[in-house]
Order: sequence, then C-alpha cells, then structure tokens
Amino acid sequence: MMILPYVHGNEWVVLDGEAMGTTIHTEVWHEDNEIAEKMAQEVMKIMEKVNQLMSPYIESSELALINREASQHPIKISSDLYDVLARSLHYSELTQGAFDITYASVGYLYNYRDSIRPNQEELASHIEAINYQNIVLNPEDYSVFFRQENVRIDLGGIAKGYAVDLSIERAKQLGIRNILVSAGGDSRILGDRLGRPWVVGIRHPINQDQVIAKIPLVDEALSTSGDYERYFDEDGIRYHHILDPKTGDSARSVRSVTILGPDAMDTDALSTSVFVMGPKKGIKLLDSLPKIEGIIVDQKGNLLFSNGLQNIE
Ligand code: ADP
Ligand code: MG
Repeated sequence: MMILPYVHGNEWVVLDGEAMGTTIHTEVWHEDNEIAEKMAQEVMKIMEKVNQLMSPYIESSELALINREASQHPIKISSDLYDVLARSLHYSELTQGAFDITYASVGYLYNYRDSIRPNQEELASHIEAINYQNIVLNPEDYSVFFRQENVRIDLGGIAKGYAVDLSIERAKQLGIRNILVSAGGDSRILGDRLGRPWVVGIRHPINQDQVIAKIPLVDEALSTSGDYERYFDEDGIRYHHILDPKTGDSARSVRSVTILGPDAMDTDALSTSVFVMGPKKGIKLLDSLPKIEGIIVDQKGNLLFSNGLQNIE
C-alpha cells in the first residue's frame, strides 16, 4: 500500500516513526494543534505498548511467556492479549484454519533475512503443532493453555491492526474527528480530509510503480498482505512470510490481497486469511461478509474484486 501525497495545510500534524518492526505513519487534524500533536505521540506510545505485550522477540512480553510455558500450565494474561487471541480463534473458525496463529510452530524455523527454511525432517516434526484447536482460552480467569508441546503462536497477522484500532479509539476519546494511522500495511481512517475523502492508491505487487486502484475512503480500515514484504527466492521458488497452516510452506496462489472494512484488526486478519485461501475461496468469503470488500492480485497478475468493488477499476 502507499498513501498518495497531498498538500498539507499548516494544521495537519504528520508523524512518522518505527515500531513493531515497521513504519508507523500518522496524519491528524484538530482545531487545537497541541491536541493533534499529543495524539501523534500517543500513536507511537500505543504501538510500543502493544509491541511490549505481543512481540515474540521480547523475552519479557506476555506472548513470549505463553510460548515458553503455556503447554505446561494455564497462564493468566492481560485483557488486551486475551481479546486478540479470542479474535484470532474467531478468524480460524471463519476461514477453516487458513488463519492460524499457531502457524508459528513451524514459522519460527524460517529466517527470511538469512534465506533459511526448515528441511523436510524439521517440518514433519513440527507440523502437528499447527492447529488453532491447540489453544484453549478460559474466559473465567482470562487464561490460556496449549494442548500440545511445541505449540508456538505469533500475532504478526493481526496485532498491527489491533494497535491501529486502539489508536483510533484514543483519537475518539480526545475528540479528534480527522486522522489516519498506519502501521506497515494496516491503516485506518477516521473522518475525511476536511471536506474531501482520503484517496488511497493500491500498488501493483509486481510492478511496484503501477497503481492498480485509487480508492476514496472515509471512516474505513484497509490492510494489504503481499509476498514481497519478507521473502527470499531459491531455485525460482519464493519463500515468504505468509504460511499455509496445512503445509507449513508459503502460500503461493496469490501475490497480494487488500481488504477494506470498518476496523483494522478485522482487515488485518482477513488480508492474511484470504492470502492463504486463494482467489476462489477468498472472494467467496469476502462476498459473504457484510461491510468487507477486497482486491486480490493472483499469481498471473490478474485482478479480482469482491462484489462491492466491481465498479472501481
Ligand atoms: P505484514 O503487514 O507483516 O506483511 P500480514 O498481515 O500480511 O502482515 O501478515 C503476515 C504475518 O502474519 C506474518 O509475518 C506472520 O507473522 C503471520 N502469519 C503468517 N501466516 C499466517 C497464518 N496462516 N495465519 C495467521 N498468521 C500468519
Ligand atoms: Mg494481515
């Protein structure tokens, strides 16, 4: 995804930062410039808070604790993490397991920067741990338990959307009516650009200079998943960061998926889901969900649009 440039009035506050391993971008307007500036800072704080809670790489995070111990005994967790886990399981059910945060039981064996992937033996000994039904949530005491050893989870397919939604909630509390927040490929917009819609350009995954669609948006979230984010190529095969939970190998039936919807946690989870499901099942799922639309670029570079977007080309 990219955000098309526009001319900033003095009143718009724009802030870029790095958090959760990606670029965070905020554009916010308020009559009181100080409130807009405070909000842009708040976005960075929220991103960092979610990262401290949900990063698998930070040893003190709740997520790292679960990955170490939840197969031995139930672990009580914060309501933030509980909510994201519950929503993840909802998407696993909805997608018949295409979205599955236990993908990480195999996913952790990949290192895209160093072109490392699991061999057949390693794959075979870890694949059984991939199954969202291995995660047991107890709403009585907000605890989580793993039914099997070797289960690992990772929230890379949903946590950025969650953090973007938290930012928008905060903006509403501060009385802000015009803001865009994006964390890597996950964005959400509140209101418009003072009388005009925001216009978001969706890039072609293969010819990155080409914009495949320009979509005017007001009060909407948007997420893109692509096979060009984190990957390496070996013998003409692309190994990238979205795995098919059935095989533990990268999903290869599409190149990119963009989802539009009311909130970013849902569009984030759905972009990853539809990427795994592929064009046919993916479009079918999108057409069954109210207020959700999507654009798929398949392996050949063909564009597929969900029902509500047929006219935008
Ligand atoms: P990004 O914005 O990081 O490119 P995506 O929304 O495209 O994120 O999701 C990709 C991330 O989702 C991966 O980096 C990984 O953490 C996680 N993931 C990969 N495969 C799956 C899957 N089958 N189900 C749930 N999460 C996944
Ligand atoms: Mg996603």
